Amino acid sequence: MKEFAYHRPTDAASAVALLAQSPGARYLAGGTNLVDLMKLGVETPDLLVDLGALPFTTVEPLTDGGLCIGAGVRNSDLAAHPYVRAHHPVLSQALLSGASGQLRNAATVGGNLLQRTRCLYFQDVTKPCNKRLPGTGCPARTGVHRDLAVLGASGHCVATHPSDLAVALAALDATVDTLSATGPRTLSINRLHRLPGNHPDHEHRLLPGELILSVGLPAPAPDTRSGYRKVRDRASFAFALASAAAVLAVEDGRVTHVALALGALAAKPWRATTAEQALLGGPATEAAFGRALDLELTAAEPLPGNGFKVPLARNLATRLLTDLATGEQAPRRETR
Ligand SMILES: Cc1cc2nc3c(=O)[nH]c(=O)nc-3n(C[C@H](O)[C@H](O)[C@H](O)COP(=O)(O)OP(=O)(O)OC[C@H]3O[C@@H](n4cnc5c(N)ncnc54)[C@H](O)[C@@H]3O)c2cc1C
Ligand code: SF4
Repeated sequence: MKEFAYHRPTDAASAVALLAQSPGARYLAGGTNLVDLMKLGVETPDLLVDLGALPFTTVEPLTDGGLCIGAGVRNSDLAAHPYVRAHHPVLSQALLSGASGQLRNAATVGGNLLQRTRCLYFQDVTKPCNKRLPGTGCPARTGVHRDLAVLGASGHCVATHPSDLAVALAALDATVDTLSATGPRTLSINRLHRLPGNHPDHEHRLLPGELILSVGLPAPAPDTRSGYRKVRDRASFAFALASAAAVLAVEDGRVTHVALALGALAAKPWRATTAEQALLGGPATEAAFGRALDLELTAAEPLPGNGFKVPLARNLATRLLTDLATGEQAPRRETR
C-alpha cells in the first residue's frame, strides 16, 4: 500500500481545510470501504483525514417531528435507535439487511452513502474501467454484469450503487447537510448521486473535499407505514440484486401517500416517480401495485445477463406495497 499522511481533526472546518490543501486526500470514516480499496490500489490517497473525532455522532429527534442523523453515526446504532425503529422501520430494516454485524458496528452513515460500486472491473486495477480511469472503456457491458444496472445506465458505465441505506433515505425524502470550502449547504438525497452519462467518474454532486455533516429526515407523513425488502444471493453479508423501500398510506382502500425507491438497479437509488403518480388516489391492490411497477420498469434496458432483475424488482416492490397496504409485517432481516 502507498504511504500516506494521517490527521485526526476535532472540528469540521479543520477537516474541510485539510482536504482543500491536499487534492489527493480522502476522508476516513469507518474505513470499511476505503481501506479495502486502498489495499487493492484503487484508492491511493496521500493523506487520510480521520473523521472519528468530529462531533457528528448523535441521532436527534427534532421538535417538528423530523430527525437529524450525524454523519458519523454507526449503522448499528442508527438501526437500533428507538425513534428510528418506531417511526422509520424502513430505515432500520434497510440498515439491518446490509453487510454483517461487525461491519455495521464500524460503518458510518456518511461512509455508507459514499461507498463505491462493487463492479468487479472497478475493483481490479489490471482491467480497464471508465469510472476508475476515464476513457479506458467498460468491459462489464460485454463481460460480467449479472449484478449491474438495468435502469439509467449509459454506454460508458452500467455500475450500480451498493448502499441499502441510501434507498431507504430516498423513499424518506431525506436531505444531506454538508460543509465545503464555499460554506454549508443542504441537498436532497435524490440529487446526491448521479447517473453515469458520459462521466461515470462523477458519482455524486458533492464538491471536491465537501464533507457530509448530517442527514435530515422530515416528520413522517400521517398514518403511513414503511418497509424495506432486499433480494440477495445469500441471507447475510451480501449486496442486493434488487431492493425496494416504500412509505405508504391507505384510506378507504385508496392510496393517499406513496413514496417508492428501488435499489441495486441503477447508479443511484431509483425513485419510482412514474409508479407513484400512477398509484396516488387509486386502489391499493396488488394488481394496481403490479401495474404501476410495470409502468415504472418500461424504462429498464437490461443487458443479456441481468434481465432477471426486472421481474425480480417488480415482484419484490409489488409484494412490499401489498404487505404495507394490508398491514402485514415485513419479515425482520436481522443478520449476523
Ligand atoms: C463484505 C461487505 C459487505 C457489505 N455489504 C453491504 C450491504 O449489503 N449493503 C450496504 O449498504 N453496504 C454494504 N457494505 C458496505 C459497507 O456498509 C460500507 O463499507 C460502509 O457503509 C462504508 O462506511 P464507512 O464509514 O466504513 O466508510 P469509509 O470506508 O470510511 O468511506 C467510504 C467513502 O466515503 C467517504 N466519506 C466517509 N464519510 C464521509 C463524510 N462524512 N463526508 C464525505 N465523505 C465521506 C470516504 O472518503 C470514502 O470515499 C458491505 C461492505 C463489505 C466489506
Ligand atoms: S460498469 Fe462502470 S465501474 Fe464497471 S467496468 Fe464499466 S465503467 Fe467500470
